[in-house]
Amino acid sequence: MHDLIIIGGGPAGMTAAVYAARKLMDALLITSDLGGQMIWTREIENYLGYQYITGPELIGKFEEHVKKYPANIVYDEVTKLEQAADGTFRVWCGAREHRAKTVIVASGKRPRRLGVPGEVEYTGRGVGYCATCDGPLYAGKAVAVVGGGNSALQAAIELAAVASKVYLVARGEFRADPVVVEKLRTTAGVEVLQGYVARGIYGGETVERFVVAARDGAERELAVQGVFVEIGLDPNSEFAAGATALNAYREIAVDCRTATGVPGLFAAGDVTSGPDKQIIIAAGDGAKAALAAYEYLLRKQ
Ligand SMILES: Cc1cc2nc3c(=O)[nH]c(=O)nc-3n(C[C@H](O)[C@H](O)[C@H](O)COP(=O)(O)OP(=O)(O)OC[C@H]3O[C@@H](n4cnc5c(N)ncnc54)[C@H](O)[C@@H]3O)c2cc1C
Repeated sequence: MHDLIIIGGGPAGMTAAVYAARKLMDALLITSDLGGQMIWTREIENYLGYQYITGPELIGKFEEHVKKYPANIVYDEVTKLEQAADGTFRVWCGAREHRAKTVIVASGKRPRRLGVPGEVEYTGRGVGYCATCDGPLYAGKAVAVVGGGNSALQAAIELAAVASKVYLVARGEFRADPVVVEKLRTTAGVEVLQGYVARGIYGGETVERFVVAARDGAERELAVQGVFVEIGLDPNSEFAAGATALNAYREIAVDCRTATGVPGLFAAGDVTSGPDKQIIIAAGDGAKAALAAYEYLLRKQ
């Protein structure tokens, strides 16, 4: 029985692991990867101490810090979290069970899918979820970006610098900051298709055509080699749904000390109902959660 299981190896989970180690807690970190969304982030300019650093570089710094302590890391996917009758926790990775007195859920978010034909088949073969990461692969090619928020508009602006043509497909009005909308307006090479929805992605080995439809149902076929889906992120909270309350966005509801309301269960970072999703905030949450779990165990003794 561990003192603590941390689920997720992004900035929240890795910070929690360092704080738990410094409190000499017997902590197990279970994660699908180390780094989380920072894996897809090319430029970070707002993590204090580094005026400019790439995502992979910052992951390296975090990992080095975590492994300075005797780290107990299992690379696996958590499929279910449950509180046992005695108040301790059962964490399943498929058939394998891990037990702990406290749990921190720090499982972050993943890109939202379009849900149209061809999306799954062409993922990695023309369909992408991170223009910042994969944009350079489309130099001289025609691409489409789907979405109307900051990330979609920024993706279109970035891609315009390398692609031969960029279509920006948005269902309705833009939901981006005015400064980003203005920048888009003055960027050459972007054709905006507002009031269009995605219908399907087609091609051979790789993407060749993207079919979109206007509000009146009229379809348009775009000859593109890449489709970037930038329509937001969904929380990785499914495995915890039976153990604690989720809000309307399927985020884990927490108070300002990362407590879920279930004694011994804490959540940190992007997976939570906390309003702002940033590396420094996730890291701060991870620290708070580990200290809260430590205090909880002290009080129980
Ligand atoms: C393209 C992009 C650019 C960004 N740029 C910036 C920036 O410049 N500055 C900034 O501050 N923020 C930026 N962000 C936001 C920032 O990356 C996130 O706020 C931050 O990574 C959240 O950290 P987290 O630890 O809560 O979750 P995540 O980073 O999402 O990490 C979650 C971890 O949980 C693991 N996991 C998920 N489900 C399971 C499961 N079932 N079992 C086991 N492990 C699981 C994942 O593998 C991952 O390791 C950016 C995000 C994106 C997508």
